[in-house]
Amino acid sequence: MNYLETVPAAERSAVVDLAAIRHNVRHLSEIAKPARLMAVVKADAYGHGALEVARAAIDAGASWLGTAHISEALALRTAGITAPVLAWLHTADSDFSAAIAANIDIGVSGWELEAVVAAARELEVPARVHLKIDTGLGRNGCPEELWESFVGAALAYQEDGLLRVVGIFSHLAVADEPRRQETDQQLQRFREAVAVAEDAGVDHEVRHIANTPAVLSRPDSHFDLVRVGLGMFGLSPFPGQSAQELGLVPAMTLKTTIANCKEVPAGQGVSYGLHYRTAEPTTLALVPVGYADGIPRVATGGPVMVDGEVFPVVGRIAMDQMVIDLGRTGVAGTADTFLGKEAVLFGPSGYPSVDEWAQASGSINYEIITRISGRVTRSYIDSGAAESAVSLDPDAEAALP
Ligand SMILES: *Cc1c(COP(=O)(O)O)cnc(C)c1O
Repeated sequence: MNYLETVPAAERSAVVDLAAIRHNVRHLSEIAKPARLMAVVKADAYGHGALEVARAAIDAGASWLGTAHISEALALRTAGITAPVLAWLHTADSDFSAAIAANIDIGVSGWELEAVVAAARELEVPARVHLKIDTGLGRNGCPEELWESFVGAALAYQEDGLLRVVGIFSHLAVADEPRRQETDQQLQRFREAVAVAEDAGVDHEVRHIANTPAVLSRPDSHFDLVRVGLGMFGLSPFPGQSAQELGLVPAMTLKTTIANCKEVPAGQGVSYGLHYRTAEPTTLALVPVGYADGIPRVATGGPVMVDGEVFPVVGRIAMDQMVIDLGRTGVAGTADTFLGKEAVLFGPSGYPSVDEWAQASGSINYEIITRISGRVTRSYIDSGAAESAVSLDPDAEAALP
């Protein structure tokens, strides 16, 4: 039986396979070890559901969780998740007091240090901070010239019992292009920054800089902890390499059912602007997913699988719907048999991929999954099949027919 059939019916579902998440966490942990794994669950776990993914990741051995915002980290705590959590992107309105009170680690790049210390002083609870160095990305992170004094300031506050420097970290700019030299420079700057901090007396628990592409391509970037987002969701960070080649299992399947189906004559215009006209008499099927569900409007040509066959979207993608041309005519009852059939936009191996939608959109797989909107029902399955399908255990292979 197709495991998707076990999912409760919904008009449009993003079905998340928690067994795939666990498989990917184990697989990436194996590659990263002895470094530990931080499961990055920002942006509602890239659209997969932060709580469900966080629990599955911890189950599979992730020792840390990561979010961009303190508000995202607080939501994990509110749900009862007690694992270490780091949040690294703040504004003057970020609630540092709530973060300290909830035992959330705070990434600091500069100005936040004073704000965090003020909150810790008031609470009389030391903050747990990770000092961020900008090794070349040019976003957050302390500039190299200021690093030594920044570390000194943090250590002075640590002496006063206002904080503890738990980690030192940075972020890579081009790890998804493994041949580029800049990663070597960034890693060199990171090692130097760690040495400066250690010489000044920082006794850190973790040094971390690797994201998914670096986990997969740069063992020298793993240090004590790797921060994994994309790979945990079973997607490849490298344009030329599929998830399957990397041993990853895509966790999300986006599916719906055909909402209308009809035979049309040659010359029938399709969707706003009438940019597509049927060349011959054919059958059109209506897929009730559009840009309000998160599929980019520009992604005409993107693949939809129905009945084991893939059909490209024709004409404009609208707010709520898109059309596929089944290319069949004169087959009595085609329209009736397709009405109500399952339509899958992307899923694991055997279905169209997130990468094909990224390509049709001129974007990247990260953006496709994180955009899937709140109008799409999230449901969760535990296929188990995902684990045996790509098992690295030769005995499991031998057991296959
Ligand atoms: C999002 C993010 C990650 C995860 O990156 P992936 O490429 O998805 O693994 C890691 N670190 C930081 C600082 C991030 O913002």
